[in-house]
Amino acid sequence: MTSKQKHFETDAIRLQRERTQYREHSVPLFLTSSFTFPNAEEMRDTFAGETEGIIYSRYSNPNTDELIAKVCAMEGAEAGFATASGMAAVFASMAAFLKAGDHVLASRALFGSTHQVLTKIFPKWGITSTYVEPTDIDNWHEAIQPNTRMLVLESPSNPGLTLVDLEKAGQIAKAHNLILNVDNCFATPYLQQPLQYGADLSVHSGTKWMDGQGRMLGGIIVGKQALIDEIQGFCRHTGPAMSPFNAWVLSKSLETLSVRMERHCQNALALAKRLSEHPRVNAVRYPFLDSHPQVDLAKKQMRLGGGLVSFEIKGGVAESMQFLNQIKLCSLSSNLGDTRTILTHPTTTTHSKLTEEERLAVGITPGLVRISVGLEHIDDISDDILAALSAV
Ligand SMILES: *Cc1c(COP(=O)(O)O)cnc(C)c1O
Repeated sequence: MTSKQKHFETDAIRLQRERTQYREHSVPLFLTSSFTFPNAEEMRDTFAGETEGIIYSRYSNPNTDELIAKVCAMEGAEAGFATASGMAAVFASMAAFLKAGDHVLASRALFGSTHQVLTKIFPKWGITSTYVEPTDIDNWHEAIQPNTRMLVLESPSNPGLTLVDLEKAGQIAKAHNLILNVDNCFATPYLQQPLQYGADLSVHSGTKWMDGQGRMLGGIIVGKQALIDEIQGFCRHTGPAMSPFNAWVLSKSLETLSVRMERHCQNALALAKRLSEHPRVNAVRYPFLDSHPQVDLAKKQMRLGGGLVSFEIKGGVAESMQFLNQIKLCSLSSNLGDTRTILTHPTTTTHSKLTEEERLAVGITPGLVRISVGLEHIDDISDDILAALSAV
């Protein structure tokens, strides 16, 4: 692997494995399930971990290795593991460490499937969890139990865009000897590096902004070597590895992550401001908007505000549906982090499995609309959305 450079943008493009004898310029693709050895001794030593080598693509592959090295350079991490989806990463980052009798302390504002893992799957295995409010971090220590092993959080959260103070979370984790596991999906490695604030693991869905082009599923976990060793062991035997093809796609995507995120954030901030002025809009949430209650924290721990804006339409489910039905250019989809602007109504889609009470607890009111702001021209995006609002 080439060595780390001074700047994020350069590593995103130049950090790479040694090229093959053809000295190809772009990343080659290694579609092979297994690898060979020149002799029995080297095969033995590679299996024993005494010689570095690639054995089988469920464990590692040149494409996933290169991708992982890149994300580690971006986030200041020692090691990582790439998975087939973001949820595989979220799950492995927790399941590799938790055993029956353990307890997880989690910020309430979590991705829907993470919530399902904590409340439906882990309890079957004797792993319990408690939710705390993301903005009430000064009191989180009160919810820590003698068997608490991990602190799980997401910042900014989906779709409420609530932040957790990462520095304080790092201090709590350290003081109580907990593994701090941060879902960094919404910020991407470009906007936020949780490990710098004391997180032990930073987890991503590569599906979202990291690929940013809506064409693949993938996930990645980066963090301290000793913890990643544990995760690698877990994944090696349970099999959630990312395919070499997806690693190849994602590695190319990362070459443009910084420029894409700059524009996503610029468009999102402009749209958030325009929405704030619309008479059909009750409230707009965007981390870098002056009206966001945590704008100072956002500016401290994030480079820019991210590509997601959420707002509350005046009215409820009926008005939200009417609004969405007037959208002409943008897409109605549950995904996010794409070149295309996407609108979602969380109450009736991504968060419909939660109870009304659970939704309200994380700020998902019936009129909340989530916008993943794309890379189309900002005027075309906002014209479409503001015209649809005016038609309600
Ligand atoms: C989408 C998402 C995930 C899950 O990622 P997949 O690639 O869809 O499995 C996890 N966390 C957050 C915050 C997400 O937005």
